[in-house]
Amino acid sequence: MDILKKIRNFAVFFCFCAMKRILVILTGGTITMVRNHETGALHPADVDTFKAFVPEMFAGNVDVEMLPFNPLIDSSDISPENWVRMATAVADNYRKYDGFVILHGTDTMSYSASALSFMLENLAKPVVFTGSQLPVGVLRSDAKENLLTAIEMAAAEDNRGKPMVPEVTIYFEDSLFRANRATKKNAEHFEAFDSYNYPSLAKAGVHIQFRENLIRYPEDNMPLFTHLKICTDVAILKLFPGINEQVVRAVLNTKGLKGVVLETYGSGNAPSAQWLYKALKEATERGIIIVNKTQCSMGSVDMGQYEVARNLLKAGVISGYDITTEALLTKMMTLFGEFPGQTDKIKHLLSIPICGEMTVDVLRQ
Ligand code: ASP
Repeated sequence: MDILKKIRNFAVFFCFCAMKRILVILTGGTITMVRNHETGALHPADVDTFKAFVPEMFAGNVDVEMLPFNPLIDSSDISPENWVRMATAVADNYRKYDGFVILHGTDTMSYSASALSFMLENLAKPVVFTGSQLPVGVLRSDAKENLLTAIEMAAAEDNRGKPMVPEVTIYFEDSLFRANRATKKNAEHFEAFDSYNYPSLAKAGVHIQFRENLIRYPEDNMPLFTHLKICTDVAILKLFPGINEQVVRAVLNTKGLKGVVLETYGSGNAPSAQWLYKALKEATERGIIIVNKTQCSMGSVDMGQYEVARNLLKAGVISGYDITTEALLTKMMTLFGEFPGQTDKIKHLLSIPICGEMTVDVLRQ
């Protein structure tokens, strides 16, 4: 074999070794759907039809394999059992692949992606959620661009050869967001997601620009640990002018209730009515954990600022700082599932960030 041939074979071998392997997990959503031309309705495509719409997926320098859920579902039907399936699919294939892309409907993507960020402890490989506003088969669809760039993001490595973004993220339109900071903001535009209290981790233009200083990197050599027990004994209680005692008590007296996301005004304020204070205090004394989350998309809870918020503190309500509702709810569900009966531990873990989901300002208690 002449020397040139040897060099070429080595190059081919090296390329093959260096080729990143990405598992694309299909759960459903618009991105996996095609239109039935007779009825006009959208329905999930089978995997071969889906692959035929995005042949580029298999033509690049990334080795892509697909794992479809059966059946594919609209994300309005997503339940914690599906989160467990997604987390298990990542864990079972963790050694075999360099990264994961999860195709998911946009409607509840930020719930699923937030849940996985808490369920996959010590994650050291990228898990990128994406979807689309228009079905994959439609000419103007955003499906192809979102999927191909999500694969590229999942395969990206830094100059030490380590995964560039070893976090659970959402890629949409041109931005990569930390999953537990993102929320769906638009049902119409292609720019469907935003992360109001934390900058995007990467921007895709002509080049993809990663913001390495904003990305979380795991401690070296920690094994992936999955939290697969999810507890659904939680509720969201959104305050509004005129809310009455019956409604508040109906929520707080729900049988088996363990945690409440209390959606308050502005920097975490609530009406000063005595009955409200009393109902909340009685609930926290019964061991229900109530976390204050502002209804504003941007900014943080600050329970020290106004008298009306101090009442909440006195009632035993804890601060959710600048967390999203999706992150707070799924964090509670994971913690209540993982540490049943350990109220103090859960309260502590809810008041600190455990995977980048909130910024705690020590001056704001
Ligand atoms: N209803 C769809 C879903 O969430 C919407 C979408 O994918 O954009 O599955």
